[in-house]
Amino acid sequence: MKIVVLDGYTLNPGDLSWDAFKKYGELTVYDRTPADKITERISDAEIVYTNKTPLSKEVFDACPGINFVGVLATGYNIVDTEAAKAKGIPVCNIPTYGTSAVGQFVMALLLEMCHHVWAHSEFVKQGKWEISPDFCFWNYPLIELAGKTMGIIGFGRIGQAAAKAAQGFGMNVLAFDEYQNKDLESDTLKYTSLDELLEKSDVISLHCPLFPSTQGIINKDTIAKMKNGVKIINTSRGPLINEQDLADALNSGKVSGAAVDVVSTEPIKSDNPLLNAKNCIITPHIAWAPLESRARLMNIAVDNLAQFIAGKSVNVVNK
Ligand code: NAD
Repeated sequence: MKIVVLDGYTLNPGDLSWDAFKKYGELTVYDRTPADKITERISDAEIVYTNKTPLSKEVFDACPGINFVGVLATGYNIVDTEAAKAKGIPVCNIPTYGTSAVGQFVMALLLEMCHHVWAHSEFVKQGKWEISPDFCFWNYPLIELAGKTMGIIGFGRIGQAAAKAAQGFGMNVLAFDEYQNKDLESDTLKYTSLDELLEKSDVISLHCPLFPSTQGIINKDTIAKMKNGVKIINTSRGPLINEQDLADALNSGKVSGAAVDVVSTEPIKSDNPLLNAKNCIITPHIAWAPLESRARLMNIAVDNLAQFIAGKSVNVVNK
């Protein structure tokens, strides 16, 4: 059985091992696969793993031998899951590997927006503290989170992890999700409508998957409903935000800060409007990537294949 990993480098740049897959077949791992090589590389494969290399209907039509697709990530929007389903191919993702890491990263972004830790350290090294007439100085407004409201759009695993961390800092949480588990509600956590979340939140963090229904969920109309000075965090998928609308709102001050780990096209393009927007932190899609998370991801990816071979597929997203 031929197993092909189309873009293995980001999962395993050399600090993990692919060996566990070899038990199940002949393994080929490509670091990256350009669009014009996708079909050629998997034309005789039965098992295909992708992280961000797109698998379209055309690819499935051209590669009739494929009988399992593993996504080396939680978000699986790069695979045409319906086309795979029509051919009876299960697409399996890795739902839980990075919950803690991404939840933690949301707070890293939020705390950076509240304290500008790195910038203040740089000011000190530039000698600005030394010449200060006072025992302290700060160059940005500093923000306390206790008592403020975090609105979480998409209250699944990562949304809940971010909520727990926010509550740890004394924040109240408003959650918006298509599916509600009322057991999660408490004095400091309530489900709400999207409009109420937009109106009442001091910080809005995106954790819903990218679907046609969620694409552009942050746009000039939804931003207009938000509090003046709101902060926006996106660690989910770039296209959830209309980036020009967010850049305009940052430049006007309507949104006082944004922090995004994901953008519409990755790697980022030089004409992305967020690159020159005011008060915008951009990180290069790293929330998922601590070694601990990647090792967990690798183990689950192997287990997804083992379960498929045993006839009891798990983590199938296109049932
Ligand atoms: P999850 O499936 O546990 O949670 C997603 C939640 O969104 C679910 O509760 C679902 O009901 C809800 N949802 C679906 N459609 C919605 C809609 N239209 N409006 C509101 N809510 C909706 O997934 P998760 O593990 O929490 O991951 C969330 C997303 O985070 C993934 O889809 C992925 O895109 C992203 N992610 C990013 C990184 C990173 O490195 N930046 C890493 C892992 C995951």
